[in-house]
Amino acid sequence: MKRKEQKKKLEVKEKPEVTEGSCNDRDCPFHGNLKVRGRAFEGEVKKKFPRRVALEFERMIYIRKYERYAKAKTKVHARLPSCMIKQINVGDIIRVQECRPLSKIIHFVVLKKLKESEHKIKQPLKTKNKKQK
Ligand SMILES: [Zn+2]
Repeated sequence: MKRKEQKKKLEVKEKPEVTEGSCNDRDCPFHGNLKVRGRAFEGEVKKKFPRRVALEFERMIYIRKYERYAKAKTKVHARLPSCMIKQINVGDIIRVQECRPLSKIIHFVVLKKLKESEHKIKQPLKTKNKKQK
């Protein structure tokens, strides 16, 4: 009996480098296999976490008793894919879209940055403590 020589070269697959254009994040809507569907929102990034952001936007609700509208805020937690970690910061306007629930609070994923934050350094109000003689 002739042994069939199995020539299997074990090629060590190197991990793909995470560049700006791609990532190996499984939960990335562009490079991974995360499908988006459902509702889409635009809002301002309020907080940034290692893999998620919290964004907030305003909406109008109608109050029948007063026949007027009132502002209400909605906060949404969205998954931040690793290819966008560097470009999205607190204060930016971003677009998110609904995806499958990734965790208890994350049902959205960041798709796009719409507007850069205006780098407003929040300066404390100038205190008028001029010493009066
Ligand atoms: Zn990606």
